[in-house]
Amino acid sequence: MNLHQNLKQIKQLITQAEVECGRDHGSVLLLAVSKQQSIEAINELFQLGVTHFGESYFQEAQQKINALQSVPICWHFIGPIQSNKTKGIAALFHWVHSISRLKIAECLNEFRPLNLGPLNICLQINLVDEKTKSGISPEYAVELARAVSQLPHLKLRGLMTIPPPQHDPQIQYALFNELNQLMHSLNQELGLDMDTLSMGMSSDFVTAIKAGATIVRIGQGLFGERQK
Ligand SMILES: *Cc1c(COP(=O)(O)O)cnc(C)c1O
Repeated sequence: MNLHQNLKQIKQLITQAEVECGRDHGSVLLLAVSKQQSIEAINELFQLGVTHFGESYFQEAQQKINALQSVPICWHFIGPIQSNKTKGIAALFHWVHSISRLKIAECLNEFRPLNLGPLNICLQINLVDEKTKSGISPEYAVELARAVSQLPHLKLRGLMTIPPPQHDPQIQYALFNELNQLMHSLNQELGLDMDTLSMGMSSDFVTAIKAGATIVRIGQGLFGERQK
């Protein structure tokens, strides 16, 4: 695996997509998804200039964050959350992208150490009705956004989605665009200032950027295959 080459290529594709749709250079944040990747690889990518990393499994993340304490990484939690992990997540992470239940948001709010300032939050939206996937349907987003926005130790930043794999870029674009529209209508309806669309992974991030993604979450495209 050649992290340097992979990073260079991903950054080029991001910049190209930004330019093609008339967005500012640097308006898209690269979140390196490091689940099932080594501490050494994370450190190497950090040395190459990547500062935001995403993890999906709390125990694995906790070990890495402890091992990398001296490295000023901004950590994002992007996986499903059980309530017994909320205390640890609230203390170790800067962002949580995967909120689909008020109960979990309330626990994070309660456990967030005050000296760290508000925890950045995205609501996970399920745009296609997939029973197996976590995330709430767009209809319930208003209710959840309203409630989460009132929790003082959380900062509601935006929406996240993981659409099913889709080969037709037009359908894919339409889905991502739906998330973009949803964020703007929630902002209007509730008087919020959400500014984050966390969408796009290794296989579809270019389309996501064209539909307005502000954070792309890229794992295997950067690190190569995950270790089992
Ligand atoms: C694993 C994961 C990713 C990264 O997926 P790749 O296909 O490796 O880019 C992005 N987002 C979430 C929520 C994930 O769990």
